[in-house]
Amino acid sequence: MDSLKERILKEGKALDETVLKVDSFLNHGVDPKLMYDMGTHFKKYFEKHGITKIFTIESSGIAPAVMTAMQMDLSMVTLKKQKSKILNGGVYQTTVHSFTKGLDYELTLSKDYISKIDKVLIIDDFLANGEAALGAIRLVEEAGATVGGVGIVIEKSFQPGRKMLDEKGYDVYSLARISKLQKGSIEFY
Ligand code: 5GP
Repeated sequence: MDSLKERILKEGKALDETVLKVDSFLNHGVDPKLMYDMGTHFKKYFEKHGITKIFTIESSGIAPAVMTAMQMDLSMVTLKKQKSKILNGGVYQTTVHSFTKGLDYELTLSKDYISKIDKVLIIDDFLANGEAALGAIRLVEEAGATVGGVGIVIEKSFQPGRKMLDEKGYDVYSLARISKLQKGSIEFY
């Protein structure tokens, strides 16, 4: 997605060799038009995949996911990062290690928002080690539903997540694929 790559080059800041800061349009400020265009690209790629529902992980996945859901005329579910206070069998939960915070959190999905017939598209802002995407996949599969694909806004292809998801057979589509990050420089495939 050329407009996304241009924004990353213009406003993104490589903090080091692994972390990219894109607060101005994705992680803090949100550019709705750019998010809408992301939805168009995700729809184009995934529209023939028989997707029934879109899942995302709070909070920066919500904007691109809702734009995709709107354009695909599907409902969207946000996976919560906090532990449910009502552990009465009403939720699926899995532990995920956060790449940016270096901490574990509980990814939570209410059983009300998934059923065995669902084919879920998972959308997230970044793909690094693949922990967040894999956590979302575990929840979908624990519910007996199917993962129809994984849509990523910015993939850092030099980190292990992409290869790991490919090897497990998931269909991953990323709008921008970064091959190398260095303080002050960003390279794409
Ligand atoms: P993973 O679970 O694939 O290791 O990391 C993905 C999650 O970590 C994303 O949901 C995102 O919130 C965060 N993340 C990973 N790498 C970056 C990065 O370079 N910049 C920002 N802003 N977030 C990142």
